[in-house]
Amino acid sequence: MSNWKTEFQRAFKNLNKLYEFLEWDLSPEIEAVAATYSLFVPYNLAVKIKRTGPNSALARQFLPHLDELNPKGFNDPIGDRQHSKSAQIIHRYDARALFTPTTVCPVHCRYCFRKNELNQGEEFFDPNFEETLSYLKNHSEINEIIFTGGDPFTLSDQKIAFYLNAFKDIRHIKDIRFHTRYPVIMPERITDELVETLNSFKEHFRTLSIAVHTNHLEEFDSFTDEAIKKLAGFQLLTQTVLLKGINDNTQTLFELFDHCLNLKMRPYYLHHPDQVKGGMHFYLSLEEGRKLFQPLRNLLPGWALPHYIIDIPEGHGKINAFNPETYHYSSKLIGIRGEIISSPEPKI
Ligand SMILES: *Cc1c(COP(=O)(O)O)cnc(C)c1O
Ligand code: SF4
Repeated sequence: MSNWKTEFQRAFKNLNKLYEFLEWDLSPEIEAVAATYSLFVPYNLAVKIKRTGPNSALARQFLPHLDELNPKGFNDPIGDRQHSKSAQIIHRYDARALFTPTTVCPVHCRYCFRKNELNQGEEFFDPNFEETLSYLKNHSEINEIIFTGGDPFTLSDQKIAFYLNAFKDIRHIKDIRFHTRYPVIMPERITDELVETLNSFKEHFRTLSIAVHTNHLEEFDSFTDEAIKKLAGFQLLTQTVLLKGINDNTQTLFELFDHCLNLKMRPYYLHHPDQVKGGMHFYLSLEEGRKLFQPLRNLLPGWALPHYIIDIPEGHGKINAFNPETYHYSSKLIGIRGEIISSPEPKI
């Protein structure tokens, strides 16, 4: 396998070049979409997209679509902005905080809930590590740091080691987690050196988890599977976004979770789609989501069923999509601090 930094450089960023490679027709309207929401498709992923075809789950997740210009939806659908505590910290739940050291991802997912922010490159993500450290030191209720972004494995091994080294000296930080799409999008990144770097910090934390973001079985091949096997020494979790037209049926989800289990990854979250501007064509109702989720109970053991959750708009956080107090019963949800939230799905 080639060096992952080379993979980064030879990724497709130009729509014409990508379509030339795919040998598919490119409609001129799509160019306007790519001008609004930039394109980034690694070469080896483009090879897989070519093989699976223009209607595949891969093509629909990563190639621009005219529906992205639909003005409906929110720029910050889950209200992260209200919980930004330093440029790099989002602290919504008392016991854990998101750490966002980079805005760069190995691919641009067309459904991304941060697609409006990542494209604008706002100072929301502007790094200032001193401020971050002092916030973390002053908040002893924080037990877990969750590296996210962007994608934290975009950082060099040295940078990852630098951050972990700083966090290991803060006594109340017990757990570390990485949320990443690299193992399935650019498996070249999972080098022996990365694994060694992470391994060298294992003894300093209670858990070191890696949550792999994956939405469809088509994302996997022998390279991704080999990369994931290298990570077997860590707590391996997955997170999946439920997406209309991609994985919105029970059998597709089952095949994905079953394969994750083959690779010793435990399905952790199934996210109901967020109402993000530019991604509303992937949206489906909570009722539809529940109908296709519930039969998974029949197909998977309870410990392998992900939590099916919905992120309430305006920063209320994650709620079980099977919360009995959902708006299908009373127009109300119960938030993480016991608060009653009305109209969780604002009309747009
Ligand atoms: C999802 C999320 C977390 C992590 O929550 P877990 O339930 O522990 O996976 C932390 N902070 C924010 C802001 C989140 O959205
Ligand atoms: S990897 Fe995550 S943050 Fe990055 S583009 Fe995809 S959904 Fe968005």
